[in-house]
Formats: sequence, C-alpha cells, structure tokens
Amino acid sequence: MAAAESDREVPSALCTEFLNFSVKDTASKWLQVTDLYKEVYHHLARYVPKIYCLGPNLNPQSEDLLAQMLLQSPLEWYLCGEDPSTGLAKLEQNNQPSQLCGHVFKVGEPTYSCRECAADPTCVLCMQCFLGSVHKEHRYRMTTSGGGGFCDCGDTEAWKKGPYCQKHEPNISDSCQEDPLAHLSTDMIARCYNVFSVVLKYAVDMLTWDKEDELPLGLEPPDRSDTYYCMLFNDEVHTYEQVIYTLQKAVNCTQKEAVSFATTVDRDGRKSVRFGDFAFCELAKSVIVRNTSRQSKPLRVQVMHSSVVAHQCFALKALHWLGHVIGYSDALRRILCQVGLERGPEGENSSLVDTLMLCDSKMWKGARNVYHQLFMSSLLMDLKYKKLFAIQFAKNYERLQSDYVKDDHDREFSVTDLSVQMFTVPSLARMLITEENLMTTIIRTFVDHLRHRDLQGRFQFERYTAQQAFKFRRVQSLIGDLKYVLISRPTEWSDQLREKFLEGLDTFLELLKCMQGMDPVVRQVGQHIEMEPEWEAAFTLQMKLTHIISMIQEWCATDERVLIEAYKKCLTALTHCHSGFADGEQPITLSMCGHSVDTIRYCVSQEKVSIHLPVSRLLAGLHVLLSKMEVAYRFPEQLPLSELSPPMLIEHPLRCLVLCAQVHAGMWRRNGFSLVNQIYYYHNVKCRVEMFDKDLIMLQAGASMMDPNHFLMIVLSRFELYHIFSSADCRKRYNRENANKDVVQQNNTLTEEMLHLIMMVVGERFEAGIGQVEGCDEIKREILHQLCIRPMAHSELVKALPENENKETGMERVIDCVASFKKPGVTGRGLYELRPECAKQFNLYFHHYSRADQSKAEEAQRKLKRQNGEDTALPPPVLPPFCPLFASLVNILQCDVLLGMLGAVLQWAVEPSAGHWSESMLQRVLHLIGMALLEEQQQLENSSEDNDVYFNFTLKMSRPGEAPSNTASVLALLENLQNAPHLEVHEGMIRWLLKTVAGIKTMRERSASASTVTASESRGQEETACDKDKAERKRKAEMARLRREKVMAQMSEMQRHFINENKELFQQSLEELDASTSTSLEHSPASSDAALACVGPRRSRPGEKRQVVTCILCQEEQEIRADGKAMVLAAFVQRSTVMSKNRTRPPHDPKHYDPLFMHPDLSFGTHTGSCGHIMHSHCWQRYFEAVQAKEQRRQQRLRVHTSYDVGNGEFLCPLCECLSNTVIPLLPRTMGSSSCEQPGLGQWLKISGQQIKAMHSAHRKLQPVSTVEETVEEECPAPEVFTVDYIPTNPYSSTIKEMLATFGTATYKVGLKVHPNEQDPRIPIMCWSSCAYTIQSIERLLVDEKKPLFGSLPCRQDDCLSSLARFGSACWTAACQPTVQGHFIRLLAALIPDPQVEASPCILDVDMLHLLVSVVLSYGSVHSQDSSGLSVDAVQLHLFHLITVAHMVQILLTSGPEEVTMEQESGEAERGEEEGACRLYNTLRTHVGSSLPEVASGWHLWRCVKTGILPYLRGAALFFHHLHGVPAPPELHALCPGQWEVLCGYLSLPSNLLQLFHGQQELLEPLLHGWCTHPGIQQTLQGGGVLVSFPRESNSLIDLPDDYSALINQASSFTCPKSGGDKSRAPTLCLVCGSMLCSQSYCCQTELEGEDVGACTAHTFACGAGVGIFLRVRESQVLFLAGKTKGCFYAPPYLDDYGETDQGLRRGNPLHLCHERYRKIQKLWRQHNITEEIGHAQEANQTLVGIDWQHL
Ligand SMILES: [Zn+2]
Ligand SMILES: [Zn+2]
Ligand SMILES: [Zn+2]
Ligand SMILES: [Zn+2]
Ligand SMILES: [Zn+2]
Ligand SMILES: [Zn+2]
Ligand SMILES: [Zn+2]
Repeated sequence: MAAAESDREVPSALCTEFLNFSVKDTASKWLQVTDLYKEVYHHLARYVPKIYCLGPNLNPQSEDLLAQMLLQSPLEWYLCGEDPSTGLAKLEQNNQPSQLCGHVFKVGEPTYSCRECAADPTCVLCMQCFLGSVHKEHRYRMTTSGGGGFCDCGDTEAWKKGPYCQKHEPNISDSCQEDPLAHLSTDMIARCYNVFSVVLKYAVDMLTWDKEDELPLGLEPPDRSDTYYCMLFNDEVHTYEQVIYTLQKAVNCTQKEAVSFATTVDRDGRKSVRFGDFAFCELAKSVIVRNTSRQSKPLRVQVMHSSVVAHQCFALKALHWLGHVIGYSDALRRILCQVGLERGPEGENSSLVDTLMLCDSKMWKGARNVYHQLFMSSLLMDLKYKKLFAIQFAKNYERLQSDYVKDDHDREFSVTDLSVQMFTVPSLARMLITEENLMTTIIRTFVDHLRHRDLQGRFQFERYTAQQAFKFRRVQSLIGDLKYVLISRPTEWSDQLREKFLEGLDTFLELLKCMQGMDPVVRQVGQHIEMEPEWEAAFTLQMKLTHIISMIQEWCATDERVLIEAYKKCLTALTHCHSGFADGEQPITLSMCGHSVDTIRYCVSQEKVSIHLPVSRLLAGLHVLLSKMEVAYRFPEQLPLSELSPPMLIEHPLRCLVLCAQVHAGMWRRNGFSLVNQIYYYHNVKCRVEMFDKDLIMLQAGASMMDPNHFLMIVLSRFELYHIFSSADCRKRYNRENANKDVVQQNNTLTEEMLHLIMMVVGERFEAGIGQVEGCDEIKREILHQLCIRPMAHSELVKALPENENKETGMERVIDCVASFKKPGVTGRGLYELRPECAKQFNLYFHHYSRADQSKAEEAQRKLKRQNGEDTALPPPVLPPFCPLFASLVNILQCDVLLGMLGAVLQWAVEPSAGHWSESMLQRVLHLIGMALLEEQQQLENSSEDNDVYFNFTLKMSRPGEAPSNTASVLALLENLQNAPHLEVHEGMIRWLLKTVAGIKTMRERSASASTVTASESRGQEETACDKDKAERKRKAEMARLRREKVMAQMSEMQRHFINENKELFQQSLEELDASTSTSLEHSPASSDAALACVGPRRSRPGEKRQVVTCILCQEEQEIRADGKAMVLAAFVQRSTVMSKNRTRPPHDPKHYDPLFMHPDLSFGTHTGSCGHIMHSHCWQRYFEAVQAKEQRRQQRLRVHTSYDVGNGEFLCPLCECLSNTVIPLLPRTMGSSSCEQPGLGQWLKISGQQIKAMHSAHRKLQPVSTVEETVEEECPAPEVFTVDYIPTNPYSSTIKEMLATFGTATYKVGLKVHPNEQDPRIPIMCWSSCAYTIQSIERLLVDEKKPLFGSLPCRQDDCLSSLARFGSACWTAACQPTVQGHFIRLLAALIPDPQVEASPCILDVDMLHLLVSVVLSYGSVHSQDSSGLSVDAVQLHLFHLITVAHMVQILLTSGPEEVTMEQESGEAERGEEEGACRLYNTLRTHVGSSLPEVASGWHLWRCVKTGILPYLRGAALFFHHLHGVPAPPELHALCPGQWEVLCGYLSLPSNLLQLFHGQQELLEPLLHGWCTHPGIQQTLQGGGVLVSFPRESNSLIDLPDDYSALINQASSFTCPKSGGDKSRAPTLCLVCGSMLCSQSYCCQTELEGEDVGACTAHTFACGAGVGIFLRVRESQVLFLAGKTKGCFYAPPYLDDYGETDQGLRRGNPLHLCHERYRKIQKLWRQHNITEEIGHAQEANQTLVGIDWQHL
C-alpha cells in the first residue's frame, strides 16, 4: 500500500468528503429525482476525476476500492431499492438460470468438440461440461482455445445429440419458455431499466469519445488541473523491439520499464507512458512520432487530459459492473439487452449496441475486449435478444467488415469475430439469409473489396501493392463467415429461403465469373521467363472457396427445385463466360477412321490458357447431382439439356488437363516455378475436389453426350497428337520420321498422358451419380490406394484425404473394411495395413496418384504378388457400372478411333525403333484393353440374355485394320507381342489379356449355342477351376516362403560372421588378451575355489597380462603401459543434479566453493560418460586441431553454429559422432605388493597419526614464514621409514602426463564452471568426486533397471569406470604432492580427529562413498613416501572399514522412528546382527542424547542398516573392482538371493557388519564419541539442516496425468509470475521438479551470466545444472535444453488412439500418457544422455542449430 499512497497525495479535505459520503442517501436522492440521467452524470463528473488518474500509475487497486464505494454502491442500492447485499442475494435466489453454460474461454484453455455430434467444428464444450456429457465416450476432438468464444453446452442447435451435460440438463418441470421478467416487480423493472440506461449510455459515451481535452455534456469536471497523459496506442505494424527502443529514447526510461510499457500496450491496446503537464507530454509525443515515422506510419500517441482518461477508466469499470450485476439474474440480463438494443434518437441502427459496434475499430484493444465480453454474457446468452442482435449485426455487416479491413488489429480483437456465435446457429443463419439477405450481403461485401480487375472483369492480383495484399488477407475472413452461414444444410425449404439462396448464388456466380480464366499463362518459348508471375493470391482464393463451392452444391442437393434453378443459372453464367468462345478461332474439320468432326483450331502450347475455371467446375458438380438425384430423368423438360453444347463444355477443362500433360512433358520449362506450383496445387488434396476432379467430371459429362469418336478426335487435337494418329500409315510413322529427339520424347509423354486421360474418363466411376456406388465407396477407394503404396499412420492418411468443411475425412466409418491396425512400439507410430483381400481392387492408374505414387505403388504391389507366388501382372480392377446419364461413356472403349490408336501403339511395340515409343505407353494400352475386356465380361455376366450386351470389344479387336493398309488386328498384334523378348515385363499382362479374351469367347459361345448349360453350372465349373488355381497358388506361396526363410537364415549368418570379423573395429576395445579377466560368466576366474576379494591384503591378484587396444583413428594396436604412448577414451563431462535430494540448494559460488566433501543430498555432481572409443592421444590431438581449424574457417564464411561448441573443447567422437568434451587416459592396473605381515587397525592408526604429523610440519616449512603462525610446537620426528621430502619418480610417460593434466583440467572446468587453471588445488578433488558420482549414478541405474551389479553394463561404461578409477589413483602425480597430501589429511580428519585441521564436517554432512573414493585415491600421494613395507591394500582396507562403520552410524542416526510393521521372525543368524545393531544404537544414544528416539526393535535397526548401506557397498564394490581389476564372483552377475553375503565377502567384510564395530570397540569408541559430539549432529537432528535418510530413493521425473487435457487445463490457469495475473503464452512444465514456467516470452526473461535468457534456460541452471527436460503444454512437445545454446524437441510421451503423437496439437485427437515412452525419457535423463540426444538431433536436423534456445 505504501507505494500506492506515495503515488498520489490525497488532500485531507477529500478524505473527509469520502468519509462523509453516504451510499444510502445518494441512492434515495436518486430515487426521487425525475431526471436520473442528469443526476448520475453530475455525480460521476464530481467523483470520477477525484478517484481515478491522480498519478502516473493508471490502475492501482485502491482506486477500484474507492470506485466500488463511491460510484458502484449507490447504483446497486438504487437498483435494488435496498441494501444491495440483501437485494442482490434475493435476485439470485429467485433466478432460474438458463440452460446455456456460456463459460467464456481463457487463452489456452482446453475445448472439446464431438466429431460425431457437433453441428460444426466451432461447437465446443468446456472441460467441465465435456466431462459430464455423453460425448466423452464418442470420438471427440480436443483443442486449446485462442481465447474468446464460449461453451455451447445447452444449445440444442449446436449438437445433433446430447446437447446438455449433467449440470445443464433442464428440469422437466421447468417451463423454460417463461419470460424471466415475470418474477420481477414492475418497480424493480423500472429502476433496473433506468440505471442500466444511464450506465450503459455513460460507458458508450466515454469509450467512443474521441476528444482529447474535453468531456461530453454533463461530465465536465468542477475544477480542471493541468495534468495530462501521453498515451501510447497499440498497432500491429511496429515490432516489440522498435517500441522498446523508441520508448527508451522518448520518455527516458530503462529497458525494463520500456519492456513493461510495450507489454502492456500489446495486451491492453494502450498505455500511458508519461504523466505531467501538457507541454511535458507533448514533447514525449513528438519524439515518439518522429522516431517511428521513418519507415512506416508512426505509432499512435495522444496527449489526453487526465479527466478524460479517468472517465474512460471508469467506463470500463462500469461495463465490468454491468456484466457482474446481470450475472445475478436472467431478468436483469434481459433488461440490459433491451436497453442496449433500444433504438436511439437517430433512428435505425442507433441503439447503444449499434453505436459500440460501429465504433469498434476506433477503440483500443482493452476497451473492445471488455465490451465484447459484455455482449457475450448478455446478448448472446439470451435467446430472444441473440436473434435481435444478430439482425442488427447483419444490418451493420458491410460497415463493420469494411472497418475491420481498414483496421490493423487481429480479428480476435474485432467485433466482427462475434459472427461465429450467430452465423453457426442454423436457425439464426437461415433467418438472416431470408430476412436480411445475409448470403448476398457477405458475398457482395467481399467482391466489393477486390476491385482490381483486368479488361474482361477478372481479378488481377498481379499488380497488388503491399497494402492491397494486406487488405486481401483481411477480407478473406468474410469467406469464413460465409462458411458459417452455409455450414448446416436446410432440411426444409421455404419459398423465401429458395429465393434468397438463389439470389445469393447469383452473387456467388458473379464472384466465380471474376475468377474464371484468371491468371492465364502463355507458353514461353526461346527465353526463360523473366519474373515469376504472381499465382498465390488466386490459389489462396480458390482454396478458401473450395469448401464454399462444395457446400453450395450440397445445399442444392437438398432441394430439386433449387438444383434445377441453380443448374440453369450456372449454365447461363458459363455461356456468358464463353461468349466470344469461337472468336478469331478458325473452324477446322478432323477426320479419322471413317469419322469426322468440326472443331476449332486451338493450341494450348501457343495460346492463353488458365487453370482457374470455377464456373465450369461448379456446373460439373451440379451435373453429377442431376444424375445422383435422378432429376435428369424425372424432370428432363425443366432442364436446359438441349442448350448444352458438349464441345463447349469440355473445351476449357480439356485445355487445362492438356496444360498439365504438357508441363509433365517438359514443354513449359521456361515458364518457371510458378506454373509448376499451380499444377501441383491443382492436383493437391486441398484443391483437387473443386479443380482436377471436377474437370475430369466435366469431360465425362461432355463425352457422355458426344459421339465417342468425335470426343477422342478433339482430345487428340488438343493434345496436339492428331497429326500422328490420323495419318493413314501412322503405324509406321516412327520408322520414317527422323524428328528431333526432344520432340519425340515430348510426344511420347503426351501420348502416355492422353491414354491415361482416356482411362480416367472411362474408369473413374466412384463418385455417386457418375457410377452406381454408395457414398462411402469413394473414400474406401482413396484409402485403399494410399495403403497400396505402403502402410500408413492415421495422420498420414488424414493428410492424403480431402477434408470436408467440418474437417472430417469420413475415414473412420470405412477404414476397418479396408485396413487393419498395427500398434506402435516404444518408438514409431501405429500403422494401418491394407487387408490382403482388398489388393485386387488396386488400380495402377488411380487418378489421384502422382507419378511418384504410381511407381511406388506398382513396385509394392508387384512385390506383394511375387511374395504370394502370384503372377506379377497388375490388371485393371473390376469397375462398378455407370449411372444412366453417363452410361454411354463405355463406348469410348470400343470406338473406332480408340481401336485405331491402340493398334498403332501395339504396332510400334512390335517393331521397336530406338526411343520412338515407350514402355509405359504400351503398358497403358494394355491396361485400356484390359478395361475394355472386363467391361464386356461384366456386361455378359450381369445380363440374362446375350442380345442385351451391345458392348462387343472382342469382336472389334479381332477385326483387321481397314484397307488400304490392311493392318493386323489388335488381337493379332497382342498374340504377336506375347513372346517378344524385349517385352518380358509385360508378358504377364499380355497373358492375362489373352486368357480373358478366351474366357469371354467361351462365355459368348456357351450362351449363344445352347441353353443347356445354365449360368449356375458354368459358375460351378469356374469355381472348381478357381479352387484349383487357389491350391496351386498356395503351393507356390509355401515354396516361396521356404525359400525366403532360407535366404533370411543365410543373411543373418553372414551378418554374424561380419560382426565377428570386424569386432575390433566396431565393438569396443579394451579387449584383454588374458582370458581370465573377461567379465562374462563362462570364464569365471581361475582361482574360483578361493573366495574373491577386491580390497585388502587378501585381495585376489589377477595374473600378469598385457592390455592391447586399437586406435580408431589410425587403426594401430597399442599396449597400455605406464611408459608407453598415451591412449585416451573420448569422454563427456557434465554437471548433474539427477540424483539430487535437495533442489532448493542454491548453486555454489564457483570461486570459493570447497568441493572436498560431498553432502549426502548429492545436490550437484559431476558425471563423466564415454562412448568407449579409444584413440592415441596424439591422433586425437591432431583430430581436434583439425576440427578447430575447420570451425574457424566455417565461422568466417557463414555465421552459424554447429551442434557442438569447439571453443569450449567440445567435439564429436570421430567414430560414433557422440558429443564429447575431453578424453580420459587409459592407465595400466596398479600392482599391489603383497607383503605378509601387516599392521592391525590400532597399529595403523598410530602409524598414520605419525605420518600426518610429519606431513603437517613438512608442509608448514614449505609455506612462506610470514603466513605461518608462530606456534611453538616441537618438531615431530617422522618415522624413519617415512621420508617427507622424498620426491617419488613419476612412472608415466610424457604423453600420459599431458593427458592426466588434460582430463583433470576438463573435469575441474566443467564441474565448477570456472576457467581452466592447471594450478588449482581443487583439480584432483573434482576428479575423485566425478569418479564417485559416476559410480553412484551407475549403481542407481542398475537398481532401477533391475539388472545385476556386474556383467550387465555395456563395455563402454565398464571401460569408462575403469579409466576413471585408475585415473583417480594416478592424478596426484600431476598435481603438487603436498596439496594432495593436504586433501588426504583433511579427508581423514573427518573420521579421525586431528587437532590441526579446522572445521571438519559433521559426519551427517558427508557422503560416504565420495569420502571413500577420495581418501583411497589420495592415499597414493602419502604412500609414495613410505618405505616401511606397509601395503597399500592393508591401508585401503582399514580406510574402507572405518568409513563403513561411519556410514552405519550415519544410517542409524538418520533411521527415523520405528515403523509399525509386523516384525518378522528372524533366524538364528540374524539374531547376532539385530543384537549388535541394538547395542550400537544404544551407544549412540548415550552420546547424542534425547535427539535420538528410543528404538527397541533390533530387527528394525538391522533392517535399516542393511537396506541403507547396500547402495554404498555396491558402489564400493564397483569402485574396487574397477580400480584393481579383480573379477567379480559369479553370484553378482545375476539377480539371485544371497547377494549380501557374496558382496560382503568380495569386499572383505564380515557379513555381520556390526562386527566391524564391536570387534574393535575400544579403538572405535573414542572416534564414535568424536562424531556424535560434533555440534552439527545436534543441529541437523533437530531439524536445522538437510537430513538425508538412507537408502536414497532414485529420483524420477514427475508423475504426469493420464489424460493430456488435464495438463492443458492446469496450464490454462497458470499465470505469468512476473506480469501480474497475465496468461502465459507458452506455459512449460519442468519434468524434473514439476515447476510451471512462462517460457518464450519477454516478461519472464532474466539475466544469467550477463545474458538475457528465457524462463526455461534460467530454470535449468538452478534445477538441472544446465540440463533441462520440459513439456511445452500448448505444443505437446518435449523440450530438451543443455546450456544456453543447445536444445532440441523430442516426441512427447502422449499418444492418441492411433499410436501417434500430436506435436503442435493440430489434429486434436484425445491424447493419453504412454508409460513406456515416458520411462524412456526418464532413462535418458538418468543415464545423463540428454545432452548427447540433443547433439544427435542437431546433427540430424541443422535447422535446430539456429534456434535461440536460450530465449525459451
Ligand atoms: Zn460449459
Ligand atoms: Zn454444461
Ligand atoms: Zn458426441
Ligand atoms: Zn592412433
Ligand atoms: Zn564414439
Ligand atoms: Zn511471463
Ligand atoms: Zn525443474
């Protein structure tokens, strides 16, 4: 509050005035006045400027409090006539709420729609309603709302079924039609009416007020001060950066303030950026305008008087208040609607609602949002007034849209966006069409905005300016409105509806006429086109209109009269387009095979041709409907069929198809890519329904009305092939012709395309109305042909199928008939596979195949047939019969011209001359012959009498050619070709054809000759033949299978062999020549009788052996020797928090952090991983230098990043491309010296005490005198055998020394995030720590994966651990010896008190495995100076035992209270342990006191110790195993019982661990006392520190809900933590800790290491030490981040029912958690593989490299 108060100095006089204000008195006064309006305005004029806008901050909370008290309360009191707290409650009680839910969606909130029941896809439910609805069980779609819009629950028109959820189900007793006002007294109604009128009028006055310095009449303030605001308004032209930059300059604010201003402007639409006197504000304004006016129009800025701003603020508040008050009662809502829509003094369209709407584009965003919300909660929620509002909206439609087009705000901020709420209601839409002529209005408004036309009146987008293009984009939203209006088809037609619809259609045809023939192209010859012509605008328009055109046809299909009228209108429009059709085009006569036809001379390759023919195509669609609805047969007299000129109908569609063929033939290469793109879209699934498909239909329609010979001749002529096929000796053409090779090639392609076209005209019968098929046959066939290419995922199929206006493909209804579903595994997706029985319906020349699809499908189908042991010929499928209107099309197959063409091609094939014909030409001819034969066969089979069958292809094909050439018949040619060696590929097909011919002949003969053989008998015979055929096929298939299996077996044998051969190359290395060291079970150790031990003087000593490895770079072998060339492993060191038990611990300060002791919460660790690939150190160095040089060169050339950061030492493993950042040297195993007599614990403690003292004094001597405190301490005589000044010889070669330094420095640099410094004493500590951390992490992984401790790790990890451990034991040689000794002394002091070491940690603050590893590895530096014959092994064992005891104590101290579980009966053996545990625990209690609870159960304590210490023991076993190379006992290679004993044995421990303590009690007791009396113990146990209990559970990623929408819902209520309650745009969930973050947004950027980073990147540094795993909730996408520059997206663990993810949430299928996939992500994380995964993703996809990951 303090800040708010300082903003404004409220004069005390005002305070008294406020205090004396009485709400009740004011209201009573108002109740008595006659002119309430004047009175209230007076009140507002007096108080509003005193409450609002007294300082620079526009909206502090305190103002709202005052406004509530002084302004709203009197209004409420007046309204209720009593204290509003009682009055409003009464209203609420009497209210009978409407059945509409009306929940207004927040941005990002989940919405649900039912694919089965929703009237259209805009009908949605909120989550609550959805969960209580029947649609939960249906096929539903889930999306996230863009904000705005409301829940349609309860709207009976929105749902075909189940309109109510449980909550909104109406009570049957309710009379819902009742007028809500019936319950209100007339007094109340009058008061309510008065107050709403005044308040709404006030709000409208103020929000539409455009004067900056004056106020409306009656609102002038009593006193004016010179206080102004400089108000900055939002526009969509300037970028965030521009605005921020300008503001910093203009109002002299910080970057941060500027960002906040810009954010507010963007959100609310305006923001005051300066407060002060007029001149002061004017100045800022002029700077802003000047700064932003250079490139574009300037930012809008106004200097406004504070009182104006104050009233506007309250006006918004008043609208909120109205929305709030009407929430109490439907009656109040109705009154408000009435007030709003009441006609104003200026006559029509002057109500307050009208005024608001008409000023919409002048208001700022925030104001618009508020009043739109009010409209939604009032007008749109009252069914009666929704209708009246819809009428007003329609009346203003044109004006509103024009305003919107000129405005630059997005549509969601425009009142026009409300159209969806009204137009999608079918009854309203129909009412608006009939009464307000809405359909015509929309189309006309649209056309009016596209004024640019060419001479013929067609749209011309070519010369659009940027501004016109912008306008064109905005005006497209009108098409959306049209779609809403048409989306539900009428079930009943009134005359008026017919009239208005047809009027709309007229306007629509006007629009289509402007498109018919637009963007014409002319073939470019000679020179390449200079500039690519504009084509996208025209296609955008076409695409947007596609659904509209389809919907108009569907409307027509519901009423015969409408259809007939529409057909007539469309034909007229087409005739109009074609007037002048034959102008200037010479008529010519074509003749061929005894037929002739008149046509015009026209060449696609020479004249203008356009791909846009919407009028023709609409007519084609209507023509099919005539057939489908049988109107053509029932009312032929009403149709203008006689007016149709078939050649005119087909002319333009044919030209368009020829254009495509010529483009394929390469004739239009010089016309550039724009034409290629147009052709692509013409066939594309998004457009083809109303483009390519309809052109084909038009050809079918035209051809069905023509003589087939004439049709074909015209086709030949348009393809410019007529001269080839028409000459008398065309069959010999190519022999003589010596044409240009290109031309020959072109003609071949054109011939192929033409043959394909003929196939399509005759064969495409799967649309209802053309062929006799059901509606779903078409879609079935589409799916079938897609699946013939390959099995496909659901989403791929959806993409390949056209969607209707409801975004549905209709696939679900039929998919199961043609396909079976195969579930996905952990990767990949679910796939649909074609049912085998459907393969026979495959048509190689399916009209929607691209050439690529076709060849893929051909290959796949042939392969399938081969696998089944069948003939690989792909004959055409049997087709359904045509509808009567199209029936004559089959005659094309047997007409003379076609037979002539077929004969010609076959003849060419018989006498092939180089390149003058093509195989695919022949293939098509064979296919056509097959189609003809099947047609005849079908007709024969389906007819009862032979004479019915007029179709007789077999007869025609056996006729020889005409004189004079007297050529061979088609049949003869086929027989001739059958054995042609060069046509082997087609042999099967030709055989099939001849067999079919024979079959048909038999059928004809049989039915002609005798009636003795009945049809059924012949069927029977066929069937037996068929059976035989089947049996044969089966036998062949079986043989094929056996053959396949044999081949497969051979293959895998070869593969195995290959792997064995190349093992050294591909598998990992470290192949130890000595067989005994192998970790596998078969070669268990030689000394199997003696128990194996990996530590201590009795440890097993693996025999002497050589270790030889191969360098992956130079392929040379190398023995690992201390004095040899260094060999290194590629390695990746990273910081990790994977095992952290305390994510709240702040990151360490790298400069001063002392890493010697790891806290048991493991909050930050350093992990080292390796891909296991080995190189010579010098080979690696050379490789890395090359990488560096390449990177330098590349950076100079192009400024892009690689997936790895060379500057930071990163590189990719040269063999496997695994991300690496250093190398670990490989070292030989240390040989233990085995001397017999070793000191016991007590003696060792003494020795070590002496050694330490000696070292202390030696180290002191080394230090400069000044820093040493003058301590008078007697020189401690070192034991004679311990020489402190002895400098041991370094056993390592120079290259190994170098690599020791390299890895040490890298670990230090990465682990502490510091610059490399080879002198830093922390280097060895970081190495030991990394070794311990990596061991712990692997131990955890093995537990989590339920794998045995030994034998299950991949070699690379074994190698990595060995080298880490051995490196750790050697790294002291690279450091200064006293430093390492100093570390040892401090480490040991944590266990054995040393007065000279200060601040030793309490044992509860030490992770014991880290301590063990560090102390063992640092001991080397001490031992090197010992010459007493003390064995390292003995010391290691003592250290190990000591730490184990300390760990037991640690566990017991943290074990926590007894659990109430049934105590198990324990065996005799366990007794000892339990008793021991009890004794130790009680000893501890004597030391620690009451902080430790009393525990009586030894069973419980022993169980705590045993489970708590196990991870440590397993870690220790891994450590010593890799350090010494002692093979592990076979029992530890499996998960069998009795592991405990074996593990203890291997570690030289008694299986009763407590013996460690009790056996040496007198020695250990003082140590124990020391540990327990450490002040840290009491503090931690009493809750002062982080208490970690053992065993530490493995960390998991957070639990995710099963249903993805739960997450969306969670995210939608998440608000940005920085910008006060704003919705976050990209809510992102950290999967490690569950925090929700506001990602990818300015508001939540923070500074990290001097750079601005997004919320995610900032979070990773705290939560994941730089590595992060997130779920982007809106996108349904997993995000991996590493550091500031690396990241990638990863498939989310949510799948739909089709086994697919939905990244981007575009499909909207319900998503459910796939546990397997989530576990896979978790495993990646636990294995520290996230960074590597990112590296691989970035290598595979370079665009990922360019993303600014740090801004996410
Ligand atoms: Zn709802
Ligand atoms: Zn509901
Ligand atoms: Zn449903
Ligand atoms: Zn090498
Ligand atoms: Zn590698
Ligand atoms: Zn934010
Ligand atoms: Zn987190």
